[in-house]
Amino acid sequence: MKYLSSLSKKNLAKQTCLLRVDFNIENTDLHGYEHGLTRIPLRVERVLPTIKFLIDRGARVVILSHRGRPKTQISADSQRKSALSQRKSAFTLKPFAKILSKLLKKPVQFIDFNFRKSDFLKLRNKIENFPPGSIFLLENLRFLPEEEKNDKKFAQRLALLGDFYVNDAFSVSHRAHASVVAITQFLPSYVGLALENELKKLNQVMKSPKKPLIIIIGGAKISDKIGVIKNFLKKADWFLLGGGVANTFLAAQKLPVGQSLYEETMIPLARQLLKSKKIILPIDSVVSKGAILDIGPKTIKKYTEIIKSAKTIIWNGPMGYIEAKRFRKGTNAIAKAIVKSRAFAVIGGGETTSIMSKVKGQKSKVFISTGGGAMLEYLAGKKLPGIEALKYRRKSALNQRQSAS
Ligand code: ADP
Ligand code: MG
Repeated sequence: MKYLSSLSKKNLAKQTCLLRVDFNIENTDLHGYEHGLTRIPLRVERVLPTIKFLIDRGARVVILSHRGRPKTQISADSQRKSALSQRKSAFTLKPFAKILSKLLKKPVQFIDFNFRKSDFLKLRNKIENFPPGSIFLLENLRFLPEEEKNDKKFAQRLALLGDFYVNDAFSVSHRAHASVVAITQFLPSYVGLALENELKKLNQVMKSPKKPLIIIIGGAKISDKIGVIKNFLKKADWFLLGGGVANTFLAAQKLPVGQSLYEETMIPLARQLLKSKKIILPIDSVVSKGAILDIGPKTIKKYTEIIKSAKTIIWNGPMGYIEAKRFRKGTNAIAKAIVKSRAFAVIGGGETTSIMSKVKGQKSKVFISTGGGAMLEYLAGKKLPGIEALKYRRKSALNQRQSAS
């Protein structure tokens, strides 16, 4: 793979970079930040050094991202049209132009155009007429169905906008989408600074973890996490389970789980895994209306002790129904124990990282992954299409530009 970090001013000056980021940030989180209530969203914060790196070396940057899962069908009838405009306002990337501009103290041009009809070469000329160091942000790529279809023609047209491509969006690298995978066929492609760091941290826990290695798995569904458990069954020392995941194991032990969240179909697999003495289950729980909604105080104590002994920790998934404050104790306790421990910890998942970000303390040894699904797939040992795509060397886009127009 080729790394952006290895490029210098000599390589980058006056070149236009297509930079794939992940600004898939919920409106509630976005508004919280805009109103000064929450800190800068992690996924924005992580790519700022990459943008600065590029503009400081005289490159123009065209930022590509998706946001949400807007339905992309475009229909002529007026009702559907108004639905479309509603979707556009809910999923637009426009607010990010203002946010980036403030953070980078530079203007950021927002480009909203009909990707289908516009002339990509014309747009490219427009971009090239801006001075080196200019920044552009393209509208949500998922407004077009081609993006999620990994459409080659679309990727080829998109590629016309720049001289090279940088993937700095680990959290979408498990998706074979046009701006993540197909585009790498048409431009020299590089690993961005944030992606490079993210892979380094994940490889550290995968390839040479200091032992004991403790894996903490919670959250809703075991089917999402089973790959990680299997891949680490030999390497890890202990698996501490909580949440709906633990409930499935409890059910596999024929313990009454009542109304608790668990996965019936995963019981045979859980039974199989229980043969490993490394799997540790809660010894008490917080129950409400016949459902297990958090780990209990004895479990918190036990898990905290084990976490204290760890040198490496991987954590994904809350220990309970964290949406209600009274069932958040277990998850908070785990987060605090990790921060207090001397272990190097890698943490991922939307809910898990939001709890971790609220915990106070020295977090220099805690790495928060931007990926939920992508982190789980990577740690399960799967090949991520967006990362694999960066491994192939492509011809320069310059020769291919004519054939695309
Ligand atoms: P992450 O987003 O960190 O990857 P998941 O999406 O896997 O985590 O799981 C988070 C969800 O799991 C939360 O909505 C939480 O309410 C739910 N959950 C965890 N434990 C329980 C439980 N015991 N009962 C009901 N829901 C639970
Ligand atoms: Mg989640």
